[in-house]
Amino acid sequence: MVGKPDFVFARKRVVVFVDGCFWHGCPKCYRRPSSRCSYWDAKVAANKARDRRVTRTLRRMGWRVVRIWEHELARKNEERLLGKLSAVSRQPSAGKPKS
Ligand SMILES: [Zn+2]
Repeated sequence: MVGKPDFVFARKRVVVFVDGCFWHGCPKCYRRPSSRCSYWDAKVAANKARDRRVTRTLRRMGWRVVRIWEHELARKNEERLLGKLSAVSRQPSAGKPKS
């Protein structure tokens, strides 16, 4: 499976990724480490570029892609997370993959 999603719901053609806030450069939580900045900047930028590429590829294959930030799994964000997931499950099926 492209990009190794954390969860795959094959029958619904939904894949879910849980992105670590640090590794994937979460806009809310990411803090640049105070040493070796350029190393980390490059590393996180490469991860983000790969995330976008993987999402695009999967969508093109007809999958619905949900990306969840690690911090959204916190108990206080439960409601929002449930909202996000149910919005996806209500979306009309992505249909046949475009080749
Ligand atoms: Zn975060």
